[in-house]
Amino acid sequence: MKCRIADRVNQIRGSGIREFFDIAQQMEDVISLGVGEPDFVTPWSIREACIFALEKGYTSYTSNWGLMELRQALSDYTYRETGVYYNPEDEILITTGVSEALDLALRAILNPGDEVILHEPSYVSYKPCTIFTGATPVCIDTSMEEGFKLRADKMKPTERTKAVVLNYPNNPTGAIMGRSDLEEIADVVTEHDLIVISDEIYSKLTYEGRHTCFSSLNGMKERTILLNGFSKAYAMTGWRIGYAMGPSDLIGAMMKIHQYIMLCAPITAQMAALEALRSSNEVEKMVAEYNRRRRLMIQGMKAIGLECFEPGGAFYAFPSITPTGLTSEEFARRLLMDEKVVVIPGSVFGASGEGFIRCAYAVSEYELKDALERMGEFISGLTK
Ligand code: PLP
Repeated sequence: MKCRIADRVNQIRGSGIREFFDIAQQMEDVISLGVGEPDFVTPWSIREACIFALEKGYTSYTSNWGLMELRQALSDYTYRETGVYYNPEDEILITTGVSEALDLALRAILNPGDEVILHEPSYVSYKPCTIFTGATPVCIDTSMEEGFKLRADKMKPTERTKAVVLNYPNNPTGAIMGRSDLEEIADVVTEHDLIVISDEIYSKLTYEGRHTCFSSLNGMKERTILLNGFSKAYAMTGWRIGYAMGPSDLIGAMMKIHQYIMLCAPITAQMAALEALRSSNEVEKMVAEYNRRRRLMIQGMKAIGLECFEPGGAFYAFPSITPTGLTSEEFARRLLMDEKVVVIPGSVFGASGEGFIRCAYAVSEYELKDALERMGEFISGLTK
């Protein structure tokens, strides 16, 4: 019998994050630091804008590019935040989340056999989505000692290297990269004529200093596909709305795929996103709350004896569990069974994530404190 599944799909494991989530769903009294999802509901003004849109009968397709009003608002917003101007006519594409934008970006630029540089530990989708195109991911380890930053001197592009995927603020480590760090990457990008796919979905969740947008670096706008979206900062994961910005030839190629596979992002989500761009007060409140929890998390980790890199962005802590002698998978499984706390093994995010666990602090203060107490119990139980 012929194999019914394509080789490229067959070779990929299901997401390790979902696995733990599924086990936890069958248990009671579980605290989940597992899923990277805000515990806030979408601010009311945004939900209300969607309700109004529905009442007025906005239920149709939009332009494949997305609503012009939204693209214009995103162009203005991005210019204000980063100083980079994107033309709403042909340099901005509205997508169903950063997830779709990432897939489009990779498919638009990669031929089978091309190589893509990824830094690890990294978000679980980059490697599979690269493999789905027939290209080869080339992973570069980052380490806690180096602040989980991608180091330019570790990038060794070959003739086949076409692109680099960057994700700062980073999932799962919370690492950020400043302008001078990024300039070193930009030099390699220019020298080897590469394209950068910069996933900046956590840009608004930057607690230490100001976020640097990769395309704002000298000469980088022409080489960068900037991805961003509403899921994290606006607590809009379920709305499925994001966008890509970049040079018109690259965005145009992405649009070609998008118009055949997706047609357009949902109109209700687009109307809501338009309102979200006007709701900066709500975002500021949520960011301040994450920052408070971040400090609680760092202090709590120290108190229970786990060495934890200080995250400068996103909403994840990534402590080392090496001293426990357990692998990250064993640690996560036993913590779930013994103390009913879900964390994600660092190994899910690449080989260099081994020895770490990812703990999302997008939960209430009460749950965070309870989870830390349970983790403390678990760790002291190991050393008895
Ligand atoms: N990029 C990163 C780094 C993420 O962490 C996530 C979700 O966890 C996504 C993209 C997916 O974003 P969206 O909900 O916009 O598809």
